[in-house]
This record gives sequence, C-alpha cells and structure tokens, in this order.
Amino acid sequence: MNSIVNKKKSKNDSIDNFALFGNPVNHSMSPNIYKNFSKEQGIPLKYKLINVCENNLIKEMELFFSLKNSKGANITVPFKETVVHICNSLTDRAKVSNSVNVIKKLSNGTLLGDNTDGVGLIHDLKTKKFIDKKSNILILGAGGAALGIISVLLEIGSTVFIWNRTIEKAKVLEKRFKHLGDVFYLNFFNKKIHEKKFNLIINATSCSMKNQIPDFPKYLISSNTYCYDLFYSRKNTVFTKFCKKNGAIHCSDGKGMLVSQAAFAFFLWYNKFPNISSSMDSVF
Ligand code: NAP
Repeated sequence: MNSIVNKKKSKNDSIDNFALFGNPVNHSMSPNIYKNFSKEQGIPLKYKLINVCENNLIKEMELFFSLKNSKGANITVPFKETVVHICNSLTDRAKVSNSVNVIKKLSNGTLLGDNTDGVGLIHDLKTKKFIDKKSNILILGAGGAALGIISVLLEIGSTVFIWNRTIEKAKVLEKRFKHLGDVFYLNFFNKKIHEKKFNLIINATSCSMKNQIPDFPKYLISSNTYCYDLFYSRKNTVFTKFCKKNGAIHCSDGKGMLVSQAAFAFFLWYNKFPNISSSMDSVF
C-alpha cells in the first residue's frame, strides 16, 4: 500500500505545473487547450487557474514559482503590463509590446517574460485569409491586448489606425510604435473619417465581455471589411453579430488566436509546436 502511494506521489512530483493568473479566470479555456497539447505531444502537465487581485498578484506568483515543478505561467486581463516588472528578463516581443502573457521559469530559477498574443493573432488571421501584406487595419481599443498585437501587424507591412475611448491612450500607442511603421491614432470626430477604408477591423476592447459594442461609426463596415473580435465565446460574440448585421461577410471571434498564442507559449516551454487545428476541433 505504502509503495503504491509513494509511486503515485513520485510520479505526481515530477509533473510540470503551469497556471493562469488573472481576474477573472474562471471562464478560461486554457486548461482544456493545454490538456490537449499535453496529450498530443505526450508531455504530462498540470494546469490551474489562479484568480488574483492587484494586492496579492506578486505574493501568489512568488508562492507558485517557489515550487520546484512550477515551470511556467500565462497572464491575462488585467495584469499583462504589471507582470513586465515582475519578470527578470524579457524576450524582444515582450519588450516591444511592454506586455507579458507567458512566463517561463529558466533553469537558474529566474522568470523570462514573453508575449505570444501578436504572433498568435497573425497566425490565425493568415489561416483565415483575413490579412495580406498591405492591409489597412483599424484597432478598436488600446489596452493590454492592443499593446501585444500592434508591433506584429506593423512588422508584416500593415498600416494600423488605433481608436480608443480614452483617446490619450491611443496617442501614447501611436508614439510608442511609430518607429516600427505606419501607425496613427484616430479620432472619430475627424470630418474625414468617412473617407477611410479599412480592410480589417479588430475589436481589442473588452466590450464583448460585457455584451457591449464599442462606439464606432458603423458605416466603416462593408461587405469587403474583415471583422475580428479578440474576445471569444462558444456562440457568436456581440461584436461579430453587430458587424454581420451591418454588412460584413467575413467575421471571426478570437478562438483561433487563443489556441495559437497558447501553441506559441507551449513552444516557449518545451521547444515543441502543437497542432493548432486539431486542438481547435477538440477544444471548441
Ligand atoms: P484591457 O487591458 O482591460 O483593455 C480594455 C480596453 O477596452 C481599453 O482600451 C478600454 O478603453 C476598452 N473599453 C472597455 N470598456 C469599453 C467601452 N464600454 N467602450 C469602449 N471601449 C471600452 O483588456 P485587454 O487585455 O486589452 O483585453 C481586451 C479584449 O481582448 C478582452 O475581451 C480579452 O478577452 C481579449 N483578448 C483575447 C485574446 C485571445 O487570445 N483571443 C488575447 C488577449 C486578449 P479605455 O482605455 O478607455 O478604458
């Protein structure tokens, strides 16, 4: 009896642990996604959700990473920018975006922060043929998710316009990414706005989470406009429904981005790239 218990204990002891830190996290699909990757790649791992608030984020992260088997973590709303300052080192992607959505504990025990949101989004946009090299893109929102995706969109040659409810934050992002390409903040009170044509509109606000639509002119949507909501849900999001109602034909939510950014995170942890499309089928 004792030896069975000990065997079980030692097997569990050697399994890598991962966690998602954020608030809220209960709705997250990440445990299912990584369970799928783990099965597909034959790498056993445990993945848990840790709901934190600003006051206990650092304490909870320290506690988690003090355990020998804790090898990495994901970070979600609203801590992606805060965690930049908790990591010991950052990848170029995390430095450029000043935001972290994945952490790897290195062999010396220090924490490396990365950002896979941008590459995850591009992977999904390319798979869906929502983007080409010279796309004119309107991003609604200037929070953590927008930070993670702008540099990657500029890198592939897109022109990026940013609108945000708090316009100052859109101006800050324009300044921050200007050296990487054509990026401009947008004011919908500008009289010339109706002359603009966007190939792709990305909803990077958190409005869909609250069943709201960001306040932008619906005449910007046409049958030629691709519409992408970073938010995801099992059914259509309020944003994709709104865009379809206003003439868009090609709409998507962020499920593909979610699985893709997780695949890039898994690659950071294990140097192995999971099959994204088969995980999409199994998880959703
Ligand atoms: P965040 O940092 O909290 O930023 C929220 C953004 O939404 C801000 O720009 C905010 O504007 C704007 N906003 C909030 N309420 C609004 C309203 N009523 N009207 C207009 N704008 C409003 O959140 P985040 O991390 O950027 O996440 C944004 C969304 O992306 C979330 O839905 C999240 O689930 C999704 N996401 C998905 C993935 C994926 O893998 N699919 C990855 C990352 C994020 P102000 O600046 O004016 O407050």
